[in-house]
Amino acid sequence: MLKSLPSPVWHPFTQHRLDPVTRRIARTEGAFLYEEDGQAVLDAISSWWVITHGHRHPGIMQAIREASERFDQIIFADYTHEPAETLARGLIELAPSGLAHVFYSDSGSTSVEVALKMALGFFHNRGMPRSRIVVMEHSYHGDTIGTMSAGERGVFNAAYGPLLFSVDSLPFPAAGQEQSTLDAFERLCRQGDIAALLIEPLVLGAGGMRIYAPWVLAELKRIAEGHGVLLIADEVMTGWGRTGSLFACQQAGITPDILCLSKGLTGGAVPLAATLCTAEIFEAHLSDDRSHTFFHSSSYTANPIACAAACANLDIWRSEPVAERIATLAAGHGRRLKRFRGDPRFADLRQCGTIAVMEINAPSSGYLSDAGPRLRTFFKARGLLIRPLGNVIYLMTPYCVTPDDLDRAYATIDEAVDLVAGDGR
Ligand SMILES: *Cc1c(COP(=O)(O)O)cnc(C)c1O
Repeated sequence: MLKSLPSPVWHPFTQHRLDPVTRRIARTEGAFLYEEDGQAVLDAISSWWVITHGHRHPGIMQAIREASERFDQIIFADYTHEPAETLARGLIELAPSGLAHVFYSDSGSTSVEVALKMALGFFHNRGMPRSRIVVMEHSYHGDTIGTMSAGERGVFNAAYGPLLFSVDSLPFPAAGQEQSTLDAFERLCRQGDIAALLIEPLVLGAGGMRIYAPWVLAELKRIAEGHGVLLIADEVMTGWGRTGSLFACQQAGITPDILCLSKGLTGGAVPLAATLCTAEIFEAHLSDDRSHTFFHSSSYTANPIACAAACANLDIWRSEPVAERIATLAAGHGRRLKRFRGDPRFADLRQCGTIAVMEINAPSSGYLSDAGPRLRTFFKARGLLIRPLGNVIYLMTPYCVTPDDLDRAYATIDEAVDLVAGDGR
């Protein structure tokens, strides 16, 4: 039994002394997780941003069952298979036009690692000495050494600092301060050693759900292009409808040189990632000289069952009114956020597509530091899965969430904020 035996499992982002993990999920369905005792939990953060349409979408589950009748893992050098081929064609059709090749891996972090290696390989194989990476302040690209290097430095990676490589960082383009971001980028580009700008388009996720304007992204792309700097769009979180469009880059009307996808790629059912790139980047690795090969693989590259799940996700995007569903959800957030406008408990309210963000006015940083865990406990007790980022509460539900579920989530947030906002406890 769970209660009598201490578990050997080490959970992610979990301080086991303070927050032991004791609750088990027995099954999932739609927008909900169900605990073993039957308690329903509204998955208001889509199980860390992966579930798009809803848990166990029938089409995706069916595709997984069917693929598992024919395939397990297949080596992806020397051989290819139908799910990987169909998916690659489908992705290129749906992605911003100009992307021509698809490299598979298995997580968001690896999709970004692959992107960085593609960018460096591109310049290396062309005999150009460019290896510096530009990122944005507050960004998050994953938890491997390479992606931590590109992300915001802080408590999450302080222990590993000595191993992280240095990058150049742009100030966040907050409303009214966009020009200083663009100027900083222009200055860095003039150095001549910048290989790529790695960026989360429109919304910086783990860095606090910070939102910036599409035109800034378009300008960054224009500057990058002018200096032969590659643009890597990390759409691991923003992809698959989160920001209101299929991909966030589409709102800026740009095609990145490299596009990183994971999380919602399979609708969140099974792990898979894809890094898309232009023909130019692929061709820089074409050579009679084998040393120009793209030397990257992971054991589970292009897992056929995962690829089949992703193909089913693409079919859902083609055949179901997903765009309308997203527009309705976004409008629903807009209406409900209004109840908090002018409310002094909130420092800021913002929204990008299906992502609704409520930043709490917490009185002190000491207070702030335990706001997250206290809110989490409160939400959990009310059957609501929300994990605030410090004093930032956000909702990023599966698209199948009902208006009633949303009403309940907002009402619970309204109650919860009294716990941590204002003058006293
Ligand atoms: C989650 C995330 C990643 C990392 O994805 P994993 O699958 O957790 O490795 C990378 N970039 C962004 C923008 C993310 O939100």
